[in-house]
Amino acid sequence: MTDLRSLTIEELKTALAEMGQPSFRADQIFDWLHRKKVRSVEEMSNLPKTLRETLERDFSLSTLTLHTRQISRDGTRKYLFLLPDRQAVESVLMHYDYGNTVCISSQVGCRMGCRFCASTIGGLSRNLLPGEMLEQIYRIEEDAGITVNHLVVMGTGEPLDNLENLTRFIRLLTHPAGKNLSERNITVSTCGLVPQIRLLAQEHLGITLALSLHAPDDALRRTMMPIANRYTIAETLAACDDYFAATGRRMSYEYSLVRGVNDSPGHALALAALLKGRNCHVNLIPVNPVAERSYEAPREAEGAHFQKLLEKNGINATIRKRMGADIDGACGQLRRRLME
Ligand code: SAH
Repeated sequence: MTDLRSLTIEELKTALAEMGQPSFRADQIFDWLHRKKVRSVEEMSNLPKTLRETLERDFSLSTLTLHTRQISRDGTRKYLFLLPDRQAVESVLMHYDYGNTVCISSQVGCRMGCRFCASTIGGLSRNLLPGEMLEQIYRIEEDAGITVNHLVVMGTGEPLDNLENLTRFIRLLTHPAGKNLSERNITVSTCGLVPQIRLLAQEHLGITLALSLHAPDDALRRTMMPIANRYTIAETLAACDDYFAATGRRMSYEYSLVRGVNDSPGHALALAALLKGRNCHVNLIPVNPVAERSYEAPREAEGAHFQKLLEKNGINATIRKRMGADIDGACGQLRRRLME
């Protein structure tokens, strides 16, 4: 059955026309789903009872249920939500000066296998539906009593491995009759699925793309990320350059600093040389230790030195501020605990 919250307003209109219903019913239903954020068709009180019954019979409505909420001293909230099929997803709410940012998951698990990442350890269970990505934002707004202004798709999963649902989700989230979030306030992070980066560029969405680079050369990148065996850094950066050309959105490159692996001054200089001449931003992330792995973050001074070397060589770089340090544990670990 089709998930009602994953349908565009045009698709709703077509479906309702087929039921012999007037088109304003589609607007009403869209409003219930994306503005009033109801959990069931039953709550759509301005629809005729017979129409509600038909919708309940012909469509599903996947709704997330809060399982665990951890609140940090800095206000960061980590959520574990249950899906109707008893799967679980993690999402995070962070408060910055510029507003409230939510980090959502795009898949249940992940099949990319990055060595330092907890989300991929159990493999991929399934893709999330567009409505299930929306639900993470809607339930957080409801729980925290806030409005979400920024979105990062950096939780569990590889968003470009679920590209069709991802683009549909973004169109729903930015729809004027729905939450109406600006495309400029959305960042999608990918480990570097080259053909999908090119497909995303063709969607002409004004969203920021972040590429998980993590190493300045192919040999080192292959020891950290299996995807590097499929695509070279040169091919990947070429696709990112084309993404920038097609969308005008400056690329963001993520570089998780791992002590003794990719954090030497030589690595910084090689990274600067690699990105030279590109209008981009480098986001340095001190690696978050994962219980099942032995990776450690560099000392603070070493991370700062790495950043300075990039800046000195003409590359914009910041070190990611650690939010919710007291409730930390790497991303994906709440979900793993539940699975055990
Ligand atoms: N699949 C997407 C989103 C993953 S999470 C991607 O690969 O980009 C967002 C970022 O966190 C990615 O850059 C990812 O490589 C990084 N990351 C994953 N686990 C990490 C850890 N334990 N410490 C630091 N960064 C990590």
